[in-house]
Amino acid sequence: MPDDPLARWETDGGATRMENGSRARRVVSLPDPEEPAPWGEITPRHIAPEDWLRFRQSMAEIFAAFGMDLESPGTERTPERFLQALYEATAGYEGDHNLLTAFPTECRCDDDCLVSQIIEGPISFYSLCEHHSLPFHGVAHVGYVSHERIIGISKLTRLVRLFARRFTVQERLGEQIASALVELMEPHGVAVRLEAAHLCTQMRGVREEHSKTVTTFWRGRYTDDPELRREFLAELGTRNPLT
Ligand SMILES: [Zn+2]
Ligand SMILES: [Zn+2]
Repeated sequence: MPDDPLARWETDGGATRMENGSRARRVVSLPDPEEPAPWGEITPRHIAPEDWLRFRQSMAEIFAAFGMDLESPGTERTPERFLQALYEATAGYEGDHNLLTAFPTECRCDDDCLVSQIIEGPISFYSLCEHHSLPFHGVAHVGYVSHERIIGISKLTRLVRLFARRFTVQERLGEQIASALVELMEPHGVAVRLEAAHLCTQMRGVREEHSKTVTTFWRGRYTDDPELRREFLAELGTRNPLT
């Protein structure tokens, strides 16, 4: 495959794959990204019906005390819907990233292997801050220098959401994504950048309404190669995920 002087873009499931022509010269053809094993829902949580009933009564009591009129057609099932939404927003606890598989590459670990950077994103995510149980949401970008294994974009998206759909904090989320990718692919390096708006601070007026929290995580080659980090961040600078 000849070097492509221009960035090559492919879209898949709302996320964008980019292979840069300057340093990332290897063009990877992606295998079928579908995963046969249901690693994203391997340990379903079991909540007994009598517990659901009790939770619903508690939520109704709290909503009513805070001012909600639970007698209207629009709100009589709100406690139930709220709990269901919260349950779905934390479905990430049901998955196990260790069951995710990566695909082999043809890497011979030559010089080219060490400079090929693949950058994925933006991958949108919604999470719940564990301090307030209020949403923080934004986008993840992931960069990696693969070695003998790669991972498809659809699986990368599911991996991000597996960790995001929990009660968590942005720092842990990024660490978990980076560590999981290191375990799965044993790549030469991983970079993860999360950019998120936190409703717990915005709704309460603690912070500027449009402020974003940015956290970046480096593994492997990225930790000691400033040029690799610069290239990763420069590429992200050309993307405008939240508009
Ligand atoms: Zn290699
Ligand atoms: Zn919070």
